[in-house]
Amino acid sequence: MTEHEIQEGARAIGIALDAQQAGALLRFRDLLVEANRRFNLTALTDDASILALHFLDSLTALPVIRDLQADAGAALELIDVGTGGGFPGIPLKIAMPELRVTLMDSTAKKVQFCSEVIRALGLQDIRAIQDRAEEAGHRPEHRERYDVVIARAVAPMPTLAEYLLPLARVGGTCIAMKGSDAQAEAARAAGAIAKLGGAVAVVKPVSLPGRDDQRALIVINKLRPTPQPYPRRGGAPRKSPLQ
Ligand code: SAM
Repeated sequence: MTEHEIQEGARAIGIALDAQQAGALLRFRDLLVEANRRFNLTALTDDASILALHFLDSLTALPVIRDLQADAGAALELIDVGTGGGFPGIPLKIAMPELRVTLMDSTAKKVQFCSEVIRALGLQDIRAIQDRAEEAGHRPEHRERYDVVIARAVAPMPTLAEYLLPLARVGGTCIAMKGSDAQAEAARAAGAIAKLGGAVAVVKPVSLPGRDDQRALIVINKLRPTPQPYPRRGGAPRKSPLQ
């Protein structure tokens, strides 16, 4: 992978990256591949997959976030729930440096890796924290504090809604990065989303260069405060998802 290939790939999905941003992603690739030898961070280790399925896929959410930023007129606070190796949060931060980013994961090793990447790339206004979404959703420093709450590949939509919506401020936005079944997933989760104070604004199809599989962003508006019992603790969002 070269800086030029990263820039070309991003251009194919309508995103302009300068040489420094492409260089940061390249360094991130090196750190990811190196750390993956020590512990399992990602099943994708070849350059083409990392570029398309990690970097570009993460960046498909950028236009939605840029529109939200234009409406807000101020730097947005974004939290990436279940960030794993830093997806989508780190590529989004590299492409949009003014974002204020929190990367959250329940696994210590993954959070440690994200902190290493932040340090190695010299990124500012970004932190990695170890927490569970169900717990963070009740902590005053996280509950209803974020303008944008995003997640990729963390849980089915009704469970994910209970992880994400409590963290969004009223007037904020949740973005679930999903596959081809997104429209049906959003419909199945409509009741859960309403109980948590939100409503689906749009299911936005996105595609990656050279790949046929359809992807989509489920964009949810947070309309009202989330009722206090949510998120339920002790694994309930996963074991008995809201209807
Ligand atoms: N978002 C990354 C990506 O797209 O590559 C990682 C996806 S990985 C399949 C799911 C991640 O979510 C894991 O790193 C896991 O530790 C984290 N996770 C699962 N449930 C969580 C929860 N309730 N709170 C915080 N993190 C969670």
